[in-house]
Amino acid sequence: MDYSKAIDRLFTRQLRDWDVAGRNYAALSNVDTRVLQLGEASVTLQYNPERRRSSAAAIDKQSLDHRACFLCSEHQPAKQKTVLWGGHYKIQVNPYPIFKRHLTIADLRHVPQQLSCRVGDMLQLASALPDFVIFYNGPRCGASAPDHAHFQAGAKGEMPLPAELEHATTHMLADGDEGFIGYVDTLGRSLFTIETSTQRAAERYALRLLDLLPTDEAADEPMVNALCWWNKTDRLWHMVIFPRLKHRPSCYGEGENRLLLSPGAVDMGGLWAVPERKDYDILTPAMIQALYDELCMSRNDLTTVIRGFNQRWEHILG
Ligand SMILES: [Zn+2]
Repeated sequence: MDYSKAIDRLFTRQLRDWDVAGRNYAALSNVDTRVLQLGEASVTLQYNPERRRSSAAAIDKQSLDHRACFLCSEHQPAKQKTVLWGGHYKIQVNPYPIFKRHLTIADLRHVPQQLSCRVGDMLQLASALPDFVIFYNGPRCGASAPDHAHFQAGAKGEMPLPAELEHATTHMLADGDEGFIGYVDTLGRSLFTIETSTQRAAERYALRLLDLLPTDEAADEPMVNALCWWNKTDRLWHMVIFPRLKHRPSCYGEGENRLLLSPGAVDMGGLWAVPERKDYDILTPAMIQALYDELCMSRNDLTTVIRGFNQRWEHILG
């Protein structure tokens, strides 16, 4: 079922009736942006002070245990409305947007953030919301509520990466009747790209990849960000998985010589919401490249994973 009409109505009502959302979406229409070129890839910087709450979020266990979880219904403002989806998710307008339309899609229960048990949900969400890119931040890869399972979704066309991928050189790891999984290393950060005609094939490729990536014991899953979208015209599922090395960069912090940047899936997609004016003003292509290099696995780091795919791809297609 296409949820587009329900989401249209949700936005109309929330921007009209909820002052926080109305104000922040109005502010976004005048936001400062500039584009940096990193070889074949581009990065859009967006000066967005409201994102400070996400970039500066304390996500250590003690802080999480002592805060009221903002994704649990009992702590949410009465004005925040919900569209139920998939039996156990609530789709809500994100009141601190990076995108002209920005959704949070949280589980109704307070259960930890984890991707492998929800890859099918992510793909299904992509076809239910064909005007959006669905994204996932791992518990130590940009999620500001790692203790409450959730996705987010942003209007298509605002992150540069999906369009750039169409022309990028892809090294095939497995290629079958229902689609492929490949590896791209020419866009400034390493990523795996999946394109399939069936949800089942995309799920199988993604789960195999997650299985081959090293597990981060602190989070009980590989450190990853993921993007997922479905194209109405060719009816293909797309998923991009970014294997991460690090949660926050060594320059992370507030004040002089620090950058208040805690990159997640949207930054990996080439759209950087920067909450500090001084950071927004000084960032250069070389600095963004250094951040990608520090946070993301390189092709060298991933040699074993890539080899694992080559050795075992016939099982994936089986
Ligand atoms: Zn919660």
